[in-house]
Amino acid sequence: MKYLFAPPAVASVPILGSDEYFPIRRIFCVGRNYEAHAKELGNAVDRETPFYFTKAAAHYVPSGATVPYPPGTANYHHELELVVAIGKGGFNIAEAQALAHVFGYACGLDMTRRDLQASLREKKLSWDLAKDFENAAVVAALAPASAIGHPVTGRMELRVNGDIRQSSDIGMMIHPIPALIAHLSRFYHLQPGDLIFTGTPEGVGPVIPGDRIEGMIEGVGGIALNIGAADSP
Ligand code: MN
Repeated sequence: MKYLFAPPAVASVPILGSDEYFPIRRIFCVGRNYEAHAKELGNAVDRETPFYFTKAAAHYVPSGATVPYPPGTANYHHELELVVAIGKGGFNIAEAQALAHVFGYACGLDMTRRDLQASLREKKLSWDLAKDFENAAVVAALAPASAIGHPVTGRMELRVNGDIRQSSDIGMMIHPIPALIAHLSRFYHLQPGDLIFTGTPEGVGPVIPGDRIEGMIEGVGGIALNIGAADSP
């Protein structure tokens, strides 16, 4: 096949303890999956039905990167999340079978232009500009489930310049991972390479150029991101 221009490289996540990479197919993100976070942004929680937004795989950035402060915002926020990596596809997956579709887990940062999200939400418009932008999907190296199992609880903590901003436990999720996989697979044929950001706990807040974000989830691993200066026009 002859392309008009060189096709973009496939965004791929390193795998801990391996020289193989996990190619990203799609990035699904769950909203409002921790009660205290939903409340801090003034939202009600829906215990029955999760909801989702997506990020382009091209917006992936690895842990440890330095990213420019993004355009179009004055309130750029961190959200520490457990990321689930789908290794085996499926449709209408039963909750009891869901974890068999998981390759592994990683820490993620769902970076957010919070001011845009607030105004878009108010106007009942799509969140794309707030959530799906360059370098907005930070994912650390994947820990295979074959090595760490399937975490159900585990402390999660995010620091900015050493100060604790987010502190919770993945066991506080409203919709646990098997329920998310079962629900999402009623709407999409899940495929190997799909990633699911499972939502953030309370304590989200702004970062500015020069800041360093460090996060960890007990039993899963860590993540870091450095905030650089905005790109000049
Ligand atoms: Mn999030």
